[in-house]
Amino acid sequence: MSWLENMKKRFHIGVRKEVPGSIWIKCEDCGTILFNDKLKENLWVCNSCDFHFRIIPDDYIRLLLDEGTFSDINANIHSIDFLKFRDVKKYADRIKTAQNNTNSKSAIRTGTGMIFGRMVAIGIMDFRFIGGSLGSVVGEKIIRLIDMALEKKLPLIIIPQSGGARMQESSISLMQMAKTSAAIGQYSKAGLPYIVILTNPTTGGVTASFAMLGDIHIAEPKALIGFAGPRVIKEAMKCELPDGFQKSDFLLEHGFCDMIVSRKNMKREISKILNILLD
Ligand SMILES: [Zn+2]
Repeated sequence: MSWLENMKKRFHIGVRKEVPGSIWIKCEDCGTILFNDKLKENLWVCNSCDFHFRIIPDDYIRLLLDEGTFSDINANIHSIDFLKFRDVKKYADRIKTAQNNTNSKSAIRTGTGMIFGRMVAIGIMDFRFIGGSLGSVVGEKIIRLIDMALEKKLPLIIIPQSGGARMQESSISLMQMAKTSAAIGQYSKAGLPYIVILTNPTTGGVTASFAMLGDIHIAEPKALIGFAGPRVIKEAMKCELPDGFQKSDFLLEHGFCDMIVSRKNMKREISKILNILLD
């Protein structure tokens, strides 16, 4: 092992936030080396360029909901490897590893909670769970969340964080796009507000379904939001893409999102929107 590898190992240089014990982390956007504890204090936002690092569902629950008000629903639904699918690894093993790493049964947490005393239905995706991919369980949990929101007449908030459809579930995964979109359509007819908080990344089949069907789309700064990734598009189109392509600012300029809100102001802004729409 080289001295550099040794040094990296000792000091966890360049290790992402998901690895416990990291001391420093490099900003993905501006390259600044940031002290992990300071970054955490700043809600995982780079103080140099405002890039919003990916955070986990527990962090969003603490950030957006009144303390102690979140209640999980359908937490125990879990995926089954019905195709006995295997790529470089067995899908069944991927599920097990993801469950152990996230302490969750699926790539989305759904439930209810309060925002400044107002009850909302909320779904928060988790990129650590097989890239936050949209499989049959994620689709089912979203449907059940929407059914509950309809029954209790609650506003709905979904926070996507996903690479897209879950390939290991083949066409069953793609069906979740139609299924969730239909449910959002029913919810919309009831005249209830659906807010989407687009985070880094929101891509693929998730963008092509429930993530882009909100009444209000809020994006975190500098989040990657798109269908196919920029590299794939660049290769297919054989041209240079504009600066900031598929980033929040670009989407705002082109009318695909309504506002960009910094994490520290998110709860207040959502509350403001709900007050305007519902009071
Ligand atoms: Zn930065």
